Amino acid sequence: MVKRIKKKVMSSVQQGMGKVRRFTSTKFRKSYVDEQLKKRKGECLRCGTCCRLLFKCPMLIDNEDGSTSCRIHKKKPENCDIFPLNQKCINERNLIQPLLPCGYSFDDDDEDEECNTETKEKNMKKNKK
Ligand code: SF4
Ligand code: SF4
Repeated sequence: MVKRIKKKVMSSVQQGMGKVRRFTSTKFRKSYVDEQLKKRKGECLRCGTCCRLLFKCPMLIDNEDGSTSCRIHKKKPENCDIFPLNQKCINERNLIQPLLPCGYSFDDDDEDEECNTETKEKNMKKNKK
């Protein structure tokens, strides 16, 4: 029981951190976002899993055919548009839907790449000073 609660809490923390990470990426790491979106392969299968991270988004519509739609599709936040940004995002959505994979994928696990890009960006800022 305690183990299950602990797992649920850890999963929620990871999902929440992912939301914050994507938000800060769209605001402060535009070059990283552009780079990642170029690397992203596949297409959205409209499973709606990424709209259920941490909580079910009130804008999410469950369609009768099992697909989902967004009430504000054309005006949805950038955070939604860029999902998934890397393998970390996919891992987070897999916490709540491990059986149905996301339609997007990345060739390699780019978590290290994310750190590398972050370091590169920091170095570039330092060099400019
Ligand atoms: S989890 Fe992937 S396939 Fe499912 S709605 Fe989100 S981006 Fe699309
Ligand atoms: S705004 Fe739309 S795309 Fe974004 S989480 Fe909500 S339902 Fe999903």
